[in-house]
Amino acid sequence: EAPASPPPSDLGKGVENLVIIGSGPAGYTAAIYAARANLKPVVFEGYQVGGVPGGQLMTTTEVENFPGFPDGVTGPDLMDKMRKQAERWGAELHQEDVEFVNVKSRPFVIRSSDREVKCHSVIIATGAAAKRLRLPREDEFWSRGISACAICDGASPLFKGQVLAVVGGGDTATEEAIYLTKYARHVHLLVRKDQLRASKAMQDRVLNNPNITVHFNTEAVDVVSNPKGQMSGIQLKRTDTGEESVLEVKGLFYGIGHTPNSQLLQGQIDLDDAGYILVEEGTAKTSVDGVFAAGDVQDHEWRQAVTAAGSGCVAALSVERYLVAND
Ligand code: FAD
Repeated sequence: EAPASPPPSDLGKGVENLVIIGSGPAGYTAAIYAARANLKPVVFEGYQVGGVPGGQLMTTTEVENFPGFPDGVTGPDLMDKMRKQAERWGAELHQEDVEFVNVKSRPFVIRSSDREVKCHSVIIATGAAAKRLRLPREDEFWSRGISACAICDGASPLFKGQVLAVVGGGDTATEEAIYLTKYARHVHLLVRKDQLRASKAMQDRVLNNPNITVHFNTEAVDVVSNPKGQMSGIQLKRTDTGEESVLEVKGLFYGIGHTPNSQLLQGQIDLDDAGYILVEEGTAKTSVDGVFAAGDVQDHEWRQAVTAAGSGCVAALSVERYLVAND
């Protein structure tokens, strides 16, 4: 197939059109679109998540809600396909973490341990990480009883029809708890403080839901397992009296927020109070011309593979327009 548009000409010797940072659905989708537009994007895939490129989906098994896979697809398989598609259209992929970015002067400078690249535009697609409780047995049960995404995992056979727990007292946790009642037998919401932080409307919905029991002044201390090594409960501790107990559940969902991977840009582009990159509404434009953001690093609300991929597409098409306008 012919490229979607001719390459912007003479953008400067030794200066690349576009650097993409990140290799989740946002980064690879941006790479596919930019490569097909003949921009020859340079992609720093990173290896921060699990030591491999591909982002958060590399840490999961079945993905049941990405369109085009009626029988589901494993996270690593989906990401491998996206990677191959980006490569096929000519994206230059480097499995390196970016360690330094300067978007305060032009051309922009992006540096990893192995190379320095100058470029006219950047797409930040560095994703986010779910905040964890760091329970002693957390790694053992991650994706095997512990999850940070009710929408992704709530309907999976591991959790369907079971008694589950959600940790957190804000909007994320209350939304997760309500969502899980669609599939779970019962949901326990574990709140460290003596009240919920969520909006009044969400509080009312949770407190009036007969399928949710709210445990105030309660924190999860560790996972309890049965002789088969499966999660059978959670060790709880009262934050007011110190009293310990075991709650029998088959799953534990974290609703304590995410940390966007935006540290590289701190002080250079506008971030919100939680560190998410601020983009002009409905676009991928950041506060710096020529710097675009896509995926979970700029999205504290939806955080899905397909929304990340969609925003990666928007970012790449925006870069194409930007380069033509600034040619
Ligand atoms: P990420 O996938 O977070 O990728 C970010 C990339 O940036 C990574 O490759 C990282 O290594 C790289 N990076 C970070 N910093 C640097 C740096 N300095 N230099 C270079 N690279 C860097 N969503 C669904 O739609 N369906 C599901 O079933 C589903 N299941 C999930 C299961 C789990 C266990 C988790 C954790 C998430 C799940 N999600 C699911 C959510 C989905 O994974 C995310 O919404 C999506 O991956 C976000 O894509 P992204 O491209 O923005 O970022």
